[in-house]
Amino acid sequence: MATADNLDCIKKRIEQAKSLYSLACDDVLLMAASKSQSITVIEEAIAAGITEFGENRVQEAEEKWQVIKPKHSNIRLHLIGALQTNKVRQALKVFEVIQSLDRVSLADSIYKELQLSQTLNSKLQTQELYIQINTGEEPQKAGVFPEEANGFIDYCVSKLKLPVVGLMCVPPENQPPAPHFALLRQIAMRNNLAKLSMGMSGDFAEAIRMGSSCVRIGSALFGDRI
Ligand SMILES: *Cc1c(COP(=O)(O)O)cnc(C)c1O
Repeated sequence: MATADNLDCIKKRIEQAKSLYSLACDDVLLMAASKSQSITVIEEAIAAGITEFGENRVQEAEEKWQVIKPKHSNIRLHLIGALQTNKVRQALKVFEVIQSLDRVSLADSIYKELQLSQTLNSKLQTQELYIQINTGEEPQKAGVFPEEANGFIDYCVSKLKLPVVGLMCVPPENQPPAPHFALLRQIAMRNNLAKLSMGMSGDFAEAIRMGSSCVRIGSALFGDRI
C-alpha cells in the first residue's frame, strides 16, 4: 500500500528532524492534506494510522467526510483553504480546526456564529483556530501581513475571545522557506501562541527544525495531485 509506505518514510523523517534540533516541538502533528483525494484513498490513510486530515474546500470536505467520519470516532478535520463568510456556519459544523482565519470580517462572522450556537444550544465541531499569516506578503495569497499580525491577533483573542491556538503560513514557492518559518515563530512567541502550523511535503523537516507543531503533508503521502 503506497500510502502506508509513504507514511512510514515521513514518520522517520519527522523523528529525525525532531531529534536533530533543539527548537523542535516534542509533539508534531502529522496532518494529511487530503484535498482532491478519493474516499478510498482516505480510508487507506486512516487504516495506516492517520487521524488528522486537511481539506481546502468546505463543500468537498462535507460531501466526503459525512461518508467517512461516522465510521471513525477519532478523526479531526482541519480547514486549510480560504473560508468565505457565507460558509462559516457550515465550516464550524464540519471542521474541528480552522487554520485559515485571515481577516476581520471572517473573525466577526465566526464570533457571531459561535454566539448564535450558544443561544440556540446547537453543537459545533470547531474547537481550535489558527490565524494565517502571509509571511511573504504575496498579493494573491491569503493571510494577514506580518506588520498587521499583532493587532489582528489581539482583536481575535482579547476582544472576540476566539479560541485561537496558533499561526499558520504557506511560504512563497520560489524562496527558501526557513526565514518564513522563523518569522511565523517570532510572531507566535511575542503573542503567546503555542502552536505553529508550517511545513508541507517539500519542507516539513526544515519546518520541524524551526519549531513546527503541525505539518501538512499532501503529495509526499498520496503522490502528486492531478
Ligand atoms: C495542499 C496543501 C498542503 C499540502 O501540500 P503538499 O505540497 O502536497 O504537501 C499544505 N497546506 C496547504 C494550505 C495546502 O493547500
